[in-house]
Amino acid sequence: MKEQILGVNVNTENYDELIPKLFANIDTKKKSLVVAINPEKLMKAKDDPALKALLNRAEFQIPDGIGVIIASKLRKGNIESRVTGVDMMDRIVREAAKTGKSIFLYGAKPGVAEAAARKLTDTYPNLQVAGTLDGYEQDTQKVLNAINEAKPEILFVAMGSPKQELWIEQHRDNLYPTLYQGVGGSFDVLAGNIKRAPAAFQKVGAEWLYRLILEPSRLKRQMNLPKFLFEIIRQNK
Ligand code: UDP
Repeated sequence: MKEQILGVNVNTENYDELIPKLFANIDTKKKSLVVAINPEKLMKAKDDPALKALLNRAEFQIPDGIGVIIASKLRKGNIESRVTGVDMMDRIVREAAKTGKSIFLYGAKPGVAEAAARKLTDTYPNLQVAGTLDGYEQDTQKVLNAINEAKPEILFVAMGSPKQELWIEQHRDNLYPTLYQGVGGSFDVLAGNIKRAPAAFQKVGAEWLYRLILEPSRLKRQMNLPKFLFEIIRQNK
């Protein structure tokens, strides 16, 4: 199920409900794209019809960011809990290891995707990593060939948003994988280059606060959240 927040569709399901849907699409060879929706993207999409359309064309939009949950609650919607990009990726990888589907990691600086793949295979020894590639190769045909020769069922693209979603949309008809997820900085997180907030912060949805303490310069970016909530309340009237 989906509900609209500032004109963008967002899935209401949690991880356990989404996983069977994503893997059913792999089994029936129906291509699908997973995008993470957060207040920053929603505020950008509000003034950018092309971005809004791009987000809405994805088969799955997961409610990343506590702001999306608050917005749903304010609008008496059905989104109960966050589905973050990095955790969704982990759940997909776990299921892929269980069901023998292979993955490919494309994006981030040279060496990062390999390091992320090593972390994943440490955690899930049965996981089949079909290949990895950094996100700075300029020859698109080389990238497409590398992925198609590796024949992964699942492709994670980590080039930041909306670059990664645009790339996936542009090329998915010519690519082998059936399931696509844009994962932003997740390879860096997996490789240990970026630390996630301690569990206590994650639990109460305050990862933003932890990041702000570490990097006060993020304040400008984070002002999006109150602006976003103000916009939700304004539009509710
Ligand atoms: N990146 C890339 N190719 C590019 C530009 C960026 O692979 O041409 C990578 C960059 O190295 C980083 C990720 O994309 O690993 C961007 O992560 P960020 O956290 O900025 O993305 P967000 O989750 O904020 O969209």
